[in-house]
Amino acid sequence: MIEVRGLTKRYGEVSAVDDLTFTVRPGEVTGFLGPNGAGKSTTLRMILGLDAPTSGTATVGGLPYAAHPAPLRAVGALLDAGAFLPSRTARDHLLALAASNGIPRRRVAEVLAEVGLESVARRRTGTFSLGMRQRLGIAAALLGDPPVLILDEPLNGLDPEGIVWMRGLMRRMAAQGRTVLMSSHLMSELELTADHLVVIGRGRLIADTSMTAFIDAHSSREVLVRSPQAQTLCRMLEPAAEVREDGTDGLVVTGLDAARIGALAAAGGVELHELTPRQASLEQAFMNLTRDSVQYRTESTEHGRSTEHTGRTEHIEHIERADRTDRAQKEMSR
Ligand code: ADP
Repeated sequence: MIEVRGLTKRYGEVSAVDDLTFTVRPGEVTGFLGPNGAGKSTTLRMILGLDAPTSGTATVGGLPYAAHPAPLRAVGALLDAGAFLPSRTARDHLLALAASNGIPRRRVAEVLAEVGLESVARRRTGTFSLGMRQRLGIAAALLGDPPVLILDEPLNGLDPEGIVWMRGLMRRMAAQGRTVLMSSHLMSELELTADHLVVIGRGRLIADTSMTAFIDAHSSREVLVRSPQAQTLCRMLEPAAEVREDGTDGLVVTGLDAARIGALAAAGGVELHELTPRQASLEQAFMNLTRDSVQYRTESTEHGRSTEHTGRTEHIEHIERADRTDRAQKEMSR
């Protein structure tokens, strides 16, 4: 269990993390979501005792990280995939970590196998690709068989096979009853991996909820309907629902579920050829959250924000702008 209470970090005028309170529970993967600059890394660094909070507390398993006698056995962390001595081999890196944390040497071979680096165990880490460094970072995190895993952007640099592998690993770790907190800006991946979400923007908490509740709360349920009597159906549904054409020959209905649409069609003698509930995605839900405020849409500009914006709207504006920047950066670095 990770408990964050009133956690705040200021760098001069900048509030990197602002009165953040949330709990990360065992047995599930919790996704830590927010755009670049939202304060994710700063939060994780404070949980791991690498940054001192301006105020507030963060504990892991009931203790501040630094109070754990053998931290690698309490928490496995992946923060910076580049943090190895380039002249050291992968195996030597892990052996040194094991020795300094009282972890048996045999764990080194076990974790190298777990992350698929056995064949390059005696290669210098300086020759590793980003994906291999990520895997080595994960191996280090798993070394102490810790009940808590904290991973900052663990999918960065992984190829598609690596991403699938990482997803399986996270899910397996959670199924074993561990607490898993992972940040990622890759929403489609996070959606597939995480059960729970902590969403922050501008250092403040925006949502702390299950993945399904988050998607439900910030997206409208749509149902795709096809019928040879589309116009009649449309007239029947419109008093209760919003209906639009989907660009082919279907209707997209918002405001009624599939069962209700089916019942209304049956009662009216309308033939249906398709009735498909559409699953909203995390990305859509997140984008809808950023569109929640009409004020935001009408007043936001590239250059500034209106003084009439609410605090929440400012978060949202920041998220959307930073998300755009983040995407542009990601595109450029490809
Ligand atoms: P994220 O991980 O969500 O991208 P960060 O935690 O890295 O966000 O950054 C949050 C904010 O704090 C940003 O505005 C960033 O510029 C600022 N920040 C982070 N570290 C420092 C630092 N050492 N000194 C000054 N500002 C910092």
